[in-house]
Amino acid sequence: RRLVAEEAGAPFDLARGPLIRGRLIRMAADDHVLLLTMHHFVADGWSTGVLFRELAALYTAFTRGEPDPLPPLPVQYADYAAWHRRWVEGPVLEAQAEYWTRTLAGAPELLELPADRPRPAKQDFAGASVRVELDEALTAALGTLSRRHGATLFTTLLAGWAAVLARLSGQDDVVVGTPSANRGRAEVEGLIGFFVNTLPVRVDLSDGPRVGELLQHVKTSALEAQRNQDIPFEQVVERIRPTRSLAYSPLFQVMFAWQNGPDGTLELPGLAVGRAGAAESATAKFDLTLTLWEVGGRIAGDVEYATALFERATVERFVEYLRRVLAGMAADDAVRVDGIPLLPAAERARLVEEWSAGDAAPPAERCIHHLFEAQVARTPDATALVHEGERLTYAELDARADRLAHRLAAVGVGRGVAVGVCLEWRPELVVALLATLKAGGVYVPLDPSLPAGRLAYIADDAGVRAVVTRAALADRVPSGAAVRVDVDADEVSTAPAEAPRALVFPEDLAYVIYTSGSTGQPKGVAVEHGAAAAHLVSVARVHGIVPEDRVLQFASAGFDVSLEQVFFPLLTGATLVLRGAELWSATEFRARVRDLGITVANLPPAYWQEVSDGAAGDALDGIRLLLIGGDALPASAADSRGAGTLVNCYGPTETVVTATAFAVERGAAGGPLVPIGRPLPGRAVYVLDPSGAPVPVRVAGELYIGGPLLARGYLGRAALTAERFVPDPFGGAPGGRLYRTGDRVRWSASGNLEFLGRTDFQVKIRGFRIELGEIEAALRSHDAVRDALVLAREDAPGDKRLVAYYLADEPVAVEALKAHLAGRLPEHMVPAAYVHLDALPLTSNGKVDRKALPAPGSDAFATRGYEAPDGETEEAVAAIWADLLGVERVGRHDHFFHLGGNSLLATQLVFRIRREMDVELPVSDVFEKPELSLLVQHLLDAQLAQFDPDQLEELLALARAADVG
Ligand code: AMP
Ligand code: MG
Repeated sequence: RRLVAEEAGAPFDLARGPLIRGRLIRMAADDHVLLLTMHHFVADGWSTGVLFRELAALYTAFTRGEPDPLPPLPVQYADYAAWHRRWVEGPVLEAQAEYWTRTLAGAPELLELPADRPRPAKQDFAGASVRVELDEALTAALGTLSRRHGATLFTTLLAGWAAVLARLSGQDDVVVGTPSANRGRAEVEGLIGFFVNTLPVRVDLSDGPRVGELLQHVKTSALEAQRNQDIPFEQVVERIRPTRSLAYSPLFQVMFAWQNGPDGTLELPGLAVGRAGAAESATAKFDLTLTLWEVGGRIAGDVEYATALFERATVERFVEYLRRVLAGMAADDAVRVDGIPLLPAAERARLVEEWSAGDAAPPAERCIHHLFEAQVARTPDATALVHEGERLTYAELDARADRLAHRLAAVGVGRGVAVGVCLEWRPELVVALLATLKAGGVYVPLDPSLPAGRLAYIADDAGVRAVVTRAALADRVPSGAAVRVDVDADEVSTAPAEAPRALVFPEDLAYVIYTSGSTGQPKGVAVEHGAAAAHLVSVARVHGIVPEDRVLQFASAGFDVSLEQVFFPLLTGATLVLRGAELWSATEFRARVRDLGITVANLPPAYWQEVSDGAAGDALDGIRLLLIGGDALPASAADSRGAGTLVNCYGPTETVVTATAFAVERGAAGGPLVPIGRPLPGRAVYVLDPSGAPVPVRVAGELYIGGPLLARGYLGRAALTAERFVPDPFGGAPGGRLYRTGDRVRWSASGNLEFLGRTDFQVKIRGFRIELGEIEAALRSHDAVRDALVLAREDAPGDKRLVAYYLADEPVAVEALKAHLAGRLPEHMVPAAYVHLDALPLTSNGKVDRKALPAPGSDAFATRGYEAPDGETEEAVAAIWADLLGVERVGRHDHFFHLGGNSLLATQLVFRIRREMDVELPVSDVFEKPELSLLVQHLLDAQLAQFDPDQLEELLALARAADVG
């Protein structure tokens, strides 16, 4: 047997031949193995039948001493080859080539199946196979189904296979290769030779075809393909010129072969003939090849698969899906094929019961401030909060909050009344937040850095009746019906330090946080006390927050994660450390972490990446727990850290701050992105396809989040709420809802969720959640702009920025567009670049072709008349800007933020200046002096101030010595 396998596996040397090897191996006097090894281009599958027939005839004749009984061949393979070449070179070839170019235009280049391993850069053709067997009942039912639709079994099986491939890949346009015997003429039927051709059949599964419709479509496609089968596949590839890759085969990567009956059987007189065991193939020409035939009333065969991509168990699952889809098709030919359930009961239960549910959350029956007050009673003298020189104990913080709550009650704040809080992060903000809740009000953060128009919109939309602020920010507060309450006013400091007796229930709203809205205005996500309190308490427990912890406030108040940062410590007796308004550079961050004794920090990935990049070994060791979230976490950013635990935290505002989490093990990040993990307490997560059915492991779907801890909905928007919060068919709780996140995710084999991207036009830039549609609407409101489209582009790796494309009769000055948007949108939503277009590029089916939009040129950025940098330092800093901002040239009057700079890039700029010029600047300098020449002037001053006078003496001495004065 080993000899057989080795012989069969030995390569053919095409230059020397022979291309057919024959051997008769004597095992015993009456036991022989006949081994024939051929290169595939000598003979195809059909030829085997011919060969067996002829071998039997010759053997029978020769053993009897009779002459060769076979009639001479009318034509030889060489005749056929010569004829074929002449024939296809004529008009036939042209017509067929045209058919294939038309049919395959725009087909996806790669069918992305949910493989177990990433595709190697070079296809290695190692393979294995698993058996397929359909029982007699299903085989018969498929026969009936086929006859009813005038289709062959081949058509029906191909349709089912394509449907499974579409479901697994999430692609509704699927190309499957099929071998065709290509023996259309009687003269060639009896020839041994290579006639077989490969026909790519393109199956369109968009618009959810029903079984009958899909069968008709596949029948037509397969028939047309057969009508155009004379042109060899290699020539089709040459015509179409698909992107050639060493990693996968061109035009299709999955085959389906239907064998019309098994290979001929060999019968020889006086001998018992059998097959010498079919050796399992150890190769795979394609990612998957499904081969089926019918024998003894059953459809059977195998799937050959590339072992570089798939595990055996995975392919066995695929085979089960195929069986279920075929059974579903046979059972009812009026159903949509994409609605046929794929998952067997056990697999389904694992996904929608076992993996989907987080632990139970505590019942949502407390209010946030009640929990805080209970903590005050337990640890009145512990430090609740520190900020710069200031320190408040729990009792002090509570007293201040009580006074302000009294004042709020006095101006009419009570149960369910919205209170705007327009303050930066200082102790007053924490006081205002607590006071609002104590008074029974609903906390609505009004970030003072937002444009006035936006603040006014939010205050109005939320129905804010009072705004807590301080004198210095008074001009930021929208003028309107709301009462302004100054935290520093006498009425506050003299109010009684005793909680007002406001009646508040867990079903009452605790806060409303506004996020970008796709239709042009931000929308308020409204969250109830019970859900928020249950989240904060249970997740603080998950993270093991203890009274000794010092938790950093980092996020601005407009992010719901700031509530975790405040209440994880304040509900456990730990200390909240306020960062304040200043954004720290990486160096500053490390120093502050040490000085302030921070043990828990919660940061967006981009900032963390910067802070950890190049941090000396132990600089961050004090942080025992790092919560990173709000945006996709690259594996590279998860590996470098201090001694602490790093957790990737995921969650939309609608599901109350954080819904899933994944603790990253050191050096075990694996793929390019860190998983977002499993559901936190009180959450249930489902990965569903567009029909709402759970998708198999490793198949991409949309993430839906259910469980008791969801937001109530969008304030004052019942229709939008109903659209995004849909009835929960899984959880079984009466009235249960699922929030449709719009996030594309998949389950990993170990039961962790992996984030893949968005299903819509929401993007994240520096952790800010942005609906591109909102920016587009704001642009369209400019008089000169007819239409607009905004993209988040990453033209340079790691540098994602917003680029606006607009249609207008004439280009509009970039400054004018920016000014228009700056009055309406927060700074992070104002695009960096503006590209004027006469028309939007369209795809062949009339949709906007986003991929065809050009990268912005240098005229797309705001610039004042260009003036070259002056002097060495200006040139050097200009070069750093150009590098960081990805622009070609930087002039001395250019503005860091107008060229696409942002706070994160500003911290990088400060870092680069320190590294390359040895001058330490605070990040705020970049904000204060955003113009190149001004920043450089300031830098030179700072350099001088840092100069060591002894060194100066030395330099002067040297200069004198060199006689340069
Ligand atoms: P927000 O409501 O501002 O918290 O934004 C929620 C959205 O941010 C989610 O729907 C995701 O698209 C994205 N997001 C949040 N956390 C993560 C994370 N850890 N990994 C990937 N994306 C995230
Ligand atoms: Mg979030």
